[in-house]
Amino acid sequence: MNMKIVNTKKHLCTCCMEEHEVKTVIVPEHTVFKGIEVSYDAEYMYCDLAEEIYMTDQQIQSNDIRMKDAYRMKQGLLSSSQIVAIRAKYGISQSDLCLLLGWGGKTITRYESHQIQDKAHDMILKKIDVDPEWFLSLLTDARGNLSEDSFRKYYDAATSLYEKYRDLYLRKAIEAQRIRYMKKRIHQVDSKLVAQ
Ligand SMILES: [Zn+2]
Repeated sequence: MNMKIVNTKKHLCTCCMEEHEVKTVIVPEHTVFKGIEVSYDAEYMYCDLAEEIYMTDQQIQSNDIRMKDAYRMKQGLLSSSQIVAIRAKYGISQSDLCLLLGWGGKTITRYESHQIQDKAHDMILKKIDVDPEWFLSLLTDARGNLSEDSFRKYYDAATSLYEKYRDLYLRKAIEAQRIRYMKKRIHQVDSKLVAQ
């Protein structure tokens, strides 16, 4: 079997029920999930005595997420850790982000683990990622349902993100204008050539 040892630690091996050096290993897995072929690295324990691999409860959970993340990436959806990272940018809690978006209170918690988000929710999260101005407007709408401390904290985070991105937006706007101008010029030159 193709497996890579990442750790070796002496503890009770739940495979043979003896205490010995148990290896943590990474094994490349390929499976079909919702009709899509996915490949991912799964983590297992390896018992040298029984020569068997097995999973702890925690590995059962994390391997399921790894598999679903591989599926999400293949479908162009945000992975669970990307969703965590977007939320972390604003320093907002899972339940408060749900509140802002008008989603059920546990939705984000589930998306950050086993449940695969639908396309519409995925697009909204991607928009949150790049649009602190939109986040600020959602935050303002939800102000009455948030504690003043939370509101202030999220507001400060989103404002500093907005300021950080503002230069980038400006540069993009200038670039877009330049491209429009160039297209117009090319069009004018083309018309002249046609006229000649
Ligand atoms: Zn063992």
